[in-house]
Amino acid sequence: MTAQMKPVDRRALELRDPSLLVGQAYVAGEWVDAPDGRTIPVTDPFDGALILEVPDLGADAARRAIDTAHAVQKDWAKRTAKERSQILRKWYDLIIANADDLALILTTEQGKPLAEAKGEVVSNAAYIEWFAEEAKRIDGDVIPGANPSQRIVVLKQPVGVCAAITPWNFPNGMITRKVGPALAAGCTMVLKPAAQTPLSALALAVLAERAGVPKGAFSVITTNDAKPIGEEFCRNPKVAKITFTGSTNVGRWLMREAGDGIKRLSLELGGNAPFIVFDDADLDAAVEGAMLSKFRNAGQTCVCANRIYVQESVAEAFAAKLAEKARGLKLGRGTEAGVTMGPLIDDRAVAKMEDHVADALSKGGRVLAGGRRSELGGTFFEPTVMAGVTQAMKVTKEETFAPLAPIISFKDEAEVIAMANDSEYGLASYFYAKDMARVWRVAEALESGMVGVNTPALANEMAPFGGVKQSGLGREGSKYGIEGFLEIKYVCLAGL
Ligand code: NAD
Repeated sequence: MTAQMKPVDRRALELRDPSLLVGQAYVAGEWVDAPDGRTIPVTDPFDGALILEVPDLGADAARRAIDTAHAVQKDWAKRTAKERSQILRKWYDLIIANADDLALILTTEQGKPLAEAKGEVVSNAAYIEWFAEEAKRIDGDVIPGANPSQRIVVLKQPVGVCAAITPWNFPNGMITRKVGPALAAGCTMVLKPAAQTPLSALALAVLAERAGVPKGAFSVITTNDAKPIGEEFCRNPKVAKITFTGSTNVGRWLMREAGDGIKRLSLELGGNAPFIVFDDADLDAAVEGAMLSKFRNAGQTCVCANRIYVQESVAEAFAAKLAEKARGLKLGRGTEAGVTMGPLIDDRAVAKMEDHVADALSKGGRVLAGGRRSELGGTFFEPTVMAGVTQAMKVTKEETFAPLAPIISFKDEAEVIAMANDSEYGLASYFYAKDMARVWRVAEALESGMVGVNTPALANEMAPFGGVKQSGLGREGSKYGIEGFLEIKYVCLAGL
């Protein structure tokens, strides 16, 4: 602990099961410290108070975890699908039984309101439940052969050892949606969570161990220096696949690094979601949707509305309603009752928000709500709504990842589709409209992996989550989500 760092208020972290708060990493089936004793402080973004220290591990630890994951993978894959399914189901049940504690750990290290944290824990545990079931449905095919004495048999087999890298904005949910399908498919996994939020990952590992996930089949490497771990993941020949959620820049780097080894990759990267309101939309529903999409997790969500396009005739009314609602959000410590928005993760996030507001103001944008740091200090920023925004501003070109709702007005469908698609990203997009012909046309024309029509809520375990363009590769969730962890093997059966 550095001299000026005060410890976290323990009253804010009263767990029913204190053994879920762990200050050791989980490597190759053992709970360990760093060999040289180095640690990373994990702090509460509300006030910077120290929660706990975790080991600052290097590439050696990652290598050891990969070696063990490789050694145990064949045995794990040989278990029956039903056995793997039952262990995953048990893990799911334990997560649900401990959801309050997991939510409290999450809020304390990440800052989001407790209700949102619990929502994250429960809705993403559902990916483990779903893939526990999918484990039993990894079907192959038997296809007629090229001649009567042949059959073409298609087997699906696990890719092998997988490495996962996850971000801080959903420290619990981004993990379960990767580990669930990997273990279900018969793969093993080594995870590197974000340095800001390792405690949620470690708590999940405690419960995985209790559920009976074999030692070494799931490791958690905590580190403050991501690059050497990333290099180990990309270069170690025992790693068959890398699954990453984070920024497009790091995704691009991983793709290059993993290229030599021709590794399988899934990438869930940045977004710049357009949120479109047509003149026939239910305006109040659109305002509610925009509030949820934009201000959930203080705007630090890859699928959150980044650019809000509103048709000219309703733009003023929409902006006024959104600004009023935004002013009604209650900022504060995530564990306090009634709080609806927490702090941003760090100073860098605040600096980006300030830069986007200043850039928009200098080019003719107007602030309707917020626009400045909150009186609460720290990394709190007032929920902000701006009007008079154009395509030329940073806020429409870049992912803001903060509570800034920029409103851009448009004339007609053709214009807004062109503006919405004018981005290198293509993760999510949303629109509100009633006319059915328009609904089909616009849903088909938007260049994104996911489209929410009259809803801001896209993600659930039954749906394929993922992006196009530079928002990534592959899908998480649904029957498609397990495919990235499976190889197809063709067996030609001859001489029948
Ligand atoms: P980031 O890319 O900086 O970090 C994400 C993870 O990658 C962290 O664990 C980090 O330590 C690790 N990392 C960074 N450099 C690395 C390297 N060289 N080798 C190995 N690991 C490395 O992103 P962030 O700022 O933490 O997260 C925000 C970004 O994540 C946003 O762009 C957001 O849109 C994106 N995101 C995408 C999704 C999605 O599903 N598409 C979901 C959540 C977040």
